[in-house]
Amino acid sequence: MDKKRLEMLRARYAGSGGNDADNPLFNAVASVQFRHGDRRSWPFAGVATFMGLPHIANPLATGALAGVDVAVIGVPMDLGVTNRAGARLGPRAVRAIERIGPMDHVLGIAPGLRLSAADVGDVPMDSRFDLARCHAEIEAHFRALHAAGVRTLAVGGDHSISYPILRALGRDRPLGLVHIDAHCDTGGIFEGSKFHHGGPFRQAVLDGVLDPERTIQIGIRGGAEYLWEFSTVSGMTVIHAETAVSMGMEAVAAEARRVVGQGPVYISFDIDSIDPGFAPGTGTPEVGGLAPREVLALLRGLVGLDIAGADVVEVAPQYDATSNTAHVAAQVLFTELCLMAASWPERAG
Ligand code: MN
Ligand code: MN
Repeated sequence: MDKKRLEMLRARYAGSGGNDADNPLFNAVASVQFRHGDRRSWPFAGVATFMGLPHIANPLATGALAGVDVAVIGVPMDLGVTNRAGARLGPRAVRAIERIGPMDHVLGIAPGLRLSAADVGDVPMDSRFDLARCHAEIEAHFRALHAAGVRTLAVGGDHSISYPILRALGRDRPLGLVHIDAHCDTGGIFEGSKFHHGGPFRQAVLDGVLDPERTIQIGIRGGAEYLWEFSTVSGMTVIHAETAVSMGMEAVAAEARRVVGQGPVYISFDIDSIDPGFAPGTGTPEVGGLAPREVLALLRGLVGLDIAGADVVEVAPQYDATSNTAHVAAQVLFTELCLMAASWPERAG
């Protein structure tokens, strides 16, 4: 080893802490992390919140959201599942994951330097037994958050929750959509109900809140293909899982950008898009899915889009013996927050 270099390293680092980097971004992040000296609360201590964000118990109280840019909200409802239940416990499982953030090393984005985000609790719902009523309550709550001027990042719950969220956010003009899932979720009426987790995007198109020509569905596979002709007939772009892998995520992201074009875009992420080898904790697993690193690369490739809202759904911790599923979900949630943060200017730490 070069002795001069060793002396230099000793002189500079023997007694140094965490915020003396050359890289200004690293210093800015450290100045926030170590705001109160070199001690900070332990990642596994305290009351669990999404990504360790501050908690706002009653976001719709007067003034509660002052200064908040992004509201991260749980939607613990799974009355719309067609197979194994349990996604109602998804928000709790994702909150329990620690050490997410504070920066994405590929994008070079630390959301906390750009915007203010908070965990605003769960959507209050008063009927445990009525799916349509739950959807009405979800829509009303997201509409109120939207009216308060915050962007929303939702954690489900089953995928039927994306329908009332799109109704709330796409009311002024139909949104574009990047939908990452094993399933197209454009099915029709099953057993007398059009409200279930297999059909939110058909209903959203029919309601005029989702633009099918600005919609791309990525990661699709499995035996239910025969139910999803609505996707192609309506003008959506569908990229199956094996096609996505052979194209490579850079090309898939480029195609997504082409499809959604300009204008506001919603990102809907179903954890069953990931292969069950990585993320078994979900109600409708499909073998042959994407790897977590592929999904992260795909999401990062969307940086610069105008993200009107996003979600992560279908985490069912009962089938998640290692908590890996919730961990992937929390990392995807953070990456979605980074994509939102990209449209805010960086500010000093
Ligand atoms: Mn889905
Ligand atoms: Mn799915």
